[in-house]
Order: sequence, then C-alpha cells, then structure tokens
Amino acid sequence: MLKVEKSSPDLETEVIYNGKCAHCGTCGAFCHHIAYDDVGLPQFEFECQETIGLCYNSCPRTDLPLGKIDEMLFGQKRADIALGFYKDIISVKTKKADSVLLGLIEAAFSEKMIDAMVLPKDATKIKGKNNNIPVVVKAVKEAKKYIPERSLQLAGPLVTGIGEAWENGANKIGFLGNPCHLTGVSKVMLSPFSTGANYTTLKIGFMCASGGLLGCKFCVDFAAEHSDLSVGTMGAVKEETLVIIRNKTGQDLIDAAVKGGQIEIANKTPDLTKLKELTNRKKRKNIQTLLGTDMAKIHYLGLSLEELKYFMSE
Ligand code: SF4
Ligand code: SF4
Repeated sequence: MLKVEKSSPDLETEVIYNGKCAHCGTCGAFCHHIAYDDVGLPQFEFECQETIGLCYNSCPRTDLPLGKIDEMLFGQKRADIALGFYKDIISVKTKKADSVLLGLIEAAFSEKMIDAMVLPKDATKIKGKNNNIPVVVKAVKEAKKYIPERSLQLAGPLVTGIGEAWENGANKIGFLGNPCHLTGVSKVMLSPFSTGANYTTLKIGFMCASGGLLGCKFCVDFAAEHSDLSVGTMGAVKEETLVIIRNKTGQDLIDAAVKGGQIEIANKTPDLTKLKELTNRKKRKNIQTLLGTDMAKIHYLGLSLEELKYFMSE
C-alpha cells in the first residue's frame, strides 16, 4: 500500500479524538512514542515531526481499500462481498483440547508455525484499567489461561504485543484478536515500512459483532477478513465452531490440528445462513453510519458502486 503523507496530528484529529478509534494498538506497536491509557486510547508522548507516519498509515480507521487489500493479502479479490476472501468454511469441534482455539494454538506450537503467541489478557480486574492488554506466551501451557471464549469486549491495544514479541527475539509470531486488530496487523505488513510485523506467521481472528466501543459503530468487519483463519460460535450449531479458512496458512493449521487430534471436523458444509445474516447486518448498519460522516468518501473502503448499492439496500 502507498504511504499517505499524514502523521500523528492527523490521526488524532481524524480518528482518536473523533470517536472512531478501535483501541487496537496498531499505531503504537512499532513506535515508542505512543502509549495507551487505561481504556486503550493512544496518547502521543510528544509532538512528532514525521510527515509520513507509520501510525497514520497502519490504522484500520484510515485508508482501507478492501479490494486492494484482498489482492495484496490473498492474490485475488473476494468472491463473497460480506465474508471476505476465503477458500473454505467448515465447522469443527474440540477433541482433546479444552477449546478449539487452544487446540489450534497447541497445533501451531507443535508444528513450529509459531515460537510466540500474542493473546489477550482481561485487564478489567487491574485497578483503573478497562480493557484487554496483550500477553506474549512461548508455550501452549502458558496459553491456557488467556484463551477467551468469544470476541473481546472492549478490545484493547493487543497489536503492541507483536512489537513486544519481536523485540524479545521471536521471529514466528502468532496473533489472536478481533477483526480491527487483524486489519491493523495486515496494514502494517502490507505497508512499505519495515517493521517486526513481518515476523507474524499466524493470524487468527475472532468474528465480532461489536466490541462495545464508541469506534465500533464505524467497523465494517464481522468475519475478521484479514486473518489466515477466522473463528466464531455466532451462527454455529451448539458445541461447534465455525472456521473460515482464508489461505494456505489457515488450511495448514487446520490440517495439523486434525492430524494432532486436537480438533475434529464436525461439518464440511455447514449452514451459513445465520453467519451471513450477522455479517450483512453489521456491514450494512455501519456502512450507513460511515456514509453519514466525514468518512463518507467512497475511496475510504474502495467500494464499487455495485457494492455500495448492496449495502444500502436494506
Ligand atoms: S491504530 Fe488502532 S489504536 Fe491507533 S488510532 Fe487507529 S484505531 Fe486507534
Ligand atoms: S466491532 Fe469488534 S472488530 Fe470492530 S472495532 Fe469494535 S472490537 Fe474491533
């Protein structure tokens, strides 16, 4: 993606103090001048002189041309306007692991797809904090206590965990987060900036209807479109988890977890009616919100007229 000639003051005006921030932590993942307050909102420690900022260019709330990102991440545009590019959608169950996610992370470690995993830690019990913070684990037994059951309420600056893992010497970093986090990570990886994000070898995304933040009403991604693998129980039948496999990395992980006995495939062709309904509902509602704001520029999402008509149709 091209660099846009904007930096931290533009990010503050357009996103942070404009109610659009997702508290994802991408802007500060590779910049030591950005900290996050107790709810996960970025704070700049001094007036930055950069004219082309990594912070601005990596934020999921700035330029987000979906078709172009699909082509760069997956080599082609999406066939499914709502769910994003994917190769397969299946439903799975746990076999011996406590949860599907833990099973996937166990397989990722044992197949050496990752040497560190960034997971969310619920920080609401820490005095004054009201979000999730990242924790970097190096083995599956450490991962166990940080596996959430579903997408994260209150999100949190988790992407900073990738910066931390990289600075501590990890070079195959796994990441678990909400769609906003995955978009941020992918934008940094696709950008011309050279950062530790390029050591991210596995991106698992939660499907997310809303993270309960002010900025969530501008979010158009339910299905974690920029992950290798999206997981979710919303729209799945009881005791099953829907998995959207988007690329070879995602498929390799599923194969490894099935082979390793951590998970089993419950249904190779699950009913997607509810999943599509949930995805369309969020996209339609929030695209219409976007169109009523200063982000109402078609080029923000790079949607075609046809796509816009689809989302405006209800
Ligand atoms: S990168 Fe994330 S935390 Fe930073 S301003 Fe953008 S949405 Fe907010
Ligand atoms: S709705 Fe979910 S994915 Fe979107 S910004 Fe909020 S927490 Fe992130």
